[in-house]
Amino acid sequence: MELFLGAISTISPLTLLPGNCSLCLQPIQPQNHCLCNLCISELPWLKTQCQRCATPLNHNKLCPDCQQNPPPYRRCIAAFEYQKGAIDKLILDIKTNPHSPEATQLSNLLSDVISLAYQDSAMPTIMIPVPLHWRKLLMRGFNQSTNIASSLSRKFNNTVILDNTCLRRASSSPQHLKSRSERLRGMRNAFRMRNNIDYEPDTKANRTNNPIRGKSVAIVDDVVTSGATAGSLASTLIKAGAKHVDIWCIARTGWHIMSD
Ligand SMILES: [Zn+2]
Ligand SMILES: [Zn+2]
Repeated sequence: MELFLGAISTISPLTLLPGNCSLCLQPIQPQNHCLCNLCISELPWLKTQCQRCATPLNHNKLCPDCQQNPPPYRRCIAAFEYQKGAIDKLILDIKTNPHSPEATQLSNLLSDVISLAYQDSAMPTIMIPVPLHWRKLLMRGFNQSTNIASSLSRKFNNTVILDNTCLRRASSSPQHLKSRSERLRGMRNAFRMRNNIDYEPDTKANRTNNPIRGKSVAIVDDVVTSGATAGSLASTLIKAGAKHVDIWCIARTGWHIMSD
């Protein structure tokens, strides 16, 4: 019996009770969270893309939008191209289940992409999950972007999460009903810093109380669609004193999904 128990204690719980892949239901490898290696390799990994906004392109240059009107953020880093199918299903799980293992799995995959992107430059030291309006947060009960940021913070020891620093104003009408240009206009003042620190004079007290002044900040989101939301938040953060702002997201939509 002792010998038997001794043998068991050397086996990890994952080996004893292997989980199954969320997509194909096959057993997953111990190092994975809820997807098998084959399903991970078949996800729509973002390959060639705009070097600023990460819109999927057939080359690694700037998209026409970024050439004509560069966005306020420095760069967007995304792991996947958002499309119908596996990634769509996994992201729906992230939005509906506060304890979704998919959030950890996709965040871990995103963390590898982020690490690679900053191999020659300093990584932002602050993460700000895109805030939900308080009414939406109350209805949903959690913010999926905060969950993604929490998983990323376990990988990045020098990057902290600043939640509740920025607030989202109420939207006048549903975003999905608007054209892209209307969306961009409507999102212009969608966020404000708590205590209005972006509107305060540049006094010593305000500099001391401002946690993002002079800092490199990463906005964390699940999906970046038109870039209007992330762009508006980036503008607010830069106005409030952030040195520069990057965007980290699980998936980025292509031109074909954007309405105009
Ligand atoms: Zn699988
Ligand atoms: Zn672009």
